[in-house]
Amino acid sequence: MPNVFDIKRNDECICGSGKKYKKCCLPRIEEIETELIKELEKDFDINQYGKDFIRVVSVMFGFEMKEDAGEADTERIAKIISELWEENDLDLDSIQKSAEAIFQLVSSKEELKFFRIPAKVFIENDTDNFDDLFDEVLEDLSIEEYLLELASIIRTSFFTDDELKTIFNWISLGLADPWQTGFFDVLFQISLKEMGEAAEKFHQIAENESDDSSEDAFLQLEPLFEEYPIFEEFVGIKALYNFESELEYLLNNGVEFEFPFYIIYTLFLKFLSAINEVIKEDLAYLKLYCPDLIFGAADAVLQEEEVIEEVYKDILEALSETLEENKDKNEELCYVIVSTTSFFFMPLWTHIIAIEKILALSMQKYFMKLPRTVDDSQLMLDSAKQLVNREFLNNYISYLNSKGLEKEASILQKTYEEATSQDAIKEIDIEEVIDIITDEDMTFEIEL
Ligand SMILES: [Zn+2]
Repeated sequence: MPNVFDIKRNDECICGSGKKYKKCCLPRIEEIETELIKELEKDFDINQYGKDFIRVVSVMFGFEMKEDAGEADTERIAKIISELWEENDLDLDSIQKSAEAIFQLVSSKEELKFFRIPAKVFIENDTDNFDDLFDEVLEDLSIEEYLLELASIIRTSFFTDDELKTIFNWISLGLADPWQTGFFDVLFQISLKEMGEAAEKFHQIAENESDDSSEDAFLQLEPLFEEYPIFEEFVGIKALYNFESELEYLLNNGVEFEFPFYIIYTLFLKFLSAINEVIKEDLAYLKLYCPDLIFGAADAVLQEEEVIEEVYKDILEALSETLEENKDKNEELCYVIVSTTSFFFMPLWTHIIAIEKILALSMQKYFMKLPRTVDDSQLMLDSAKQLVNREFLNNYISYLNSKGLEKEASILQKTYEEATSQDAIKEIDIEEVIDIITDEDMTFEIEL
């Protein structure tokens, strides 16, 4: 018997509050558990398996969620469980029937469309043997995480009594064996089926695509991705990894991505804030966390509409300019540029991660070549220390304003104030930070 949600009183609470279980969600969960047992004891002799099941359900309906899901209706839950237990005949026929009902519900219910095996397992485990793949998948998945996610779906959307009974049946299947094979097998089968269907449709779109209508083909991808979120995830990750090797090739072959200095400057200041929050004065760990912190900072900078538009534009411009220059000269380079450009035209969620990587590398490169003049101004950046100097900031802000870039100036100003308002930032040795960023060994590998 697996001890699913066998949480000790002093363990950290499952809801992610950081508090101890007994001081957080336990009281509410115990309350639900007691009510369910009291109700079900009237008609059933509850064995250990039944008790475990009730505990799991109580946790699922009792833990504190970020979204407001209202109070658990224990009367309704008890009624559904008792129906389930009354119907539970262990003959093959009814097991088969309930397996079909679970498969049907999980594959068709809109709210469960995103509740699948992570698509990256289909990329990382390169095998045609599905039994092997399933074993690999099982090792990495935690039923508790899955049950909490399932719980938040059930508690925030409408499920009929019958649907809920099917879900409960699925959960009890999951508790029936130590590896939760019965629970994950459903997800795995559905994920596989959807991947197969979507891949077929994807190839049809690609086949119908004639040279002059590639944009139409990209448009057709959107409904396909909407219908199969797992396939969108899969294509996104695959394309991202492919992009990463293409990017390396492009950079080695003279393609340069250049952005206005205010973007690099804002990114650096966001990064300093992040260092300050995570590492404080001790920079010993920075080498380790540097890529993560820069990706995070880039993510924050890209939330600004002006920045993301500018960055997209600059990347596509750099690609098309290099393509123009190398037409009839370097076939391989042109091929890679076209491929990278179509990556950015496809409706993929992984673009942002690709852009974060380009920004990180651009900032690194920028600081490798100091001193330099800033944009096309008279301003000279001799050392990165100037970036936390108010006089330098003010001069650059005046330059931006003189170019009519008021919004850009205010984004930078805001980020500067946020970064420098923290006392500890004065303790950070900027030169040391720059040394770490510009270290030859500092690569910005994408990890998902
Ligand atoms: Zn809690």
